[in-house]
Amino acid sequence: MSVVTRFAPSPTGYLHLGHAYAALVAFGIARERGGRFLLRMEDIDRGRCRAEFADAIEDDLSWLGIAWDGGVRRQSEHLDDYRAALARLEAMALIYPCFCTRADIKAELAAAVSAPHGPAGPLYPGTCRGLPESERAARIRQGLAYALRLDVAKAQAMTGPLFWEDEIEGPVEAASTLHGDVVLARKDAPTSYHLAVTVDDALQGVTLVTRGEDLFAATDIHRLLQALLGYPTPRYRHHKLLADAAGKRFAKRDQAVTLRGLRAIGKTPAEVRAMAGFA
Ligand code: GLU
Repeated sequence: MSVVTRFAPSPTGYLHLGHAYAALVAFGIARERGGRFLLRMEDIDRGRCRAEFADAIEDDLSWLGIAWDGGVRRQSEHLDDYRAALARLEAMALIYPCFCTRADIKAELAAAVSAPHGPAGPLYPGTCRGLPESERAARIRQGLAYALRLDVAKAQAMTGPLFWEDEIEGPVEAASTLHGDVVLARKDAPTSYHLAVTVDDALQGVTLVTRGEDLFAATDIHRLLQALLGYPTPRYRHHKLLADAAGKRFAKRDQAVTLRGLRAIGKTPAEVRAMAGFA
């Protein structure tokens, strides 16, 4: 089976050198191994994503010499796919509505004797997990906004231990319960990063997920969702994050290192590829 990789940026700004590195890793592996390279816009955050950034991403990638196979998948056009996955998890009694605001969660954590932390910060304390059905229904009738959370402990008890394979780290056991009950549908969108990325990688037939090591721990949750939804498990390659000469990671706020900015000061695509470590 030939490899299928992807680059999945969120169009919330212009691409910088760190993105160029990530895209070149995925593109390079697909080309070296005779596989396919896909482009996906992770644009479910309607408040932060803009069409002009999505257009600029395609333009910048083409300028850099990166060509993707097939059309671009835009998450905002596939909300029904995420709804269908949620419905399956709901039928398994694994998700529950969470009415908490950020302030509620903060107050609850502050009042707790000990607030356990996971890879992405303090864990959701489970406030809404045990709400009686009648209370849930009443709050929904009142029109209170809610997110949908995964009951991770229950889900893990259902699947048993899970593993995934990282091309750099080797076999990894998915430590899903370290994350608490993650959000699968946000108050403002019928999905979340975790759900959309897992559904899309499966529907697009991605066999090798390459992405930055900052998302290493998130794979625990993606592996759990794959098991629950009966999806195949891709291989992973969590690569280093590109840093500048001072050792600082590139971030969207550093205008100077956007691909646009480099292009504007006359850098060639070959020079920019070299700056990202690709000769
Ligand atoms: N959309 C994510 C980002 O821009 C990447 C998601 C992924 O590669 O899994 O950081």
